Amino acid sequence: MFRCVRCGEPLPADYNSYGVRCDYCHSKIFRKEHPNVKKVLKAR
Ligand SMILES: [Zn+2]
Repeated sequence: MFRCVRCGEPLPADYNSYGVRCDYCHSKIFRKEHPNVKKVLKAR
């Protein structure tokens, strides 16, 4: 998941290409963010 660095709005899931802008502030700078879902790995 990507988030706009300016307004913090999350982008749509498919952010793979350049040229995507934030709908709110039109920023082109995003940062990758881990989803809230935690992957639980059980050790064997
Ligand atoms: Zn924004």
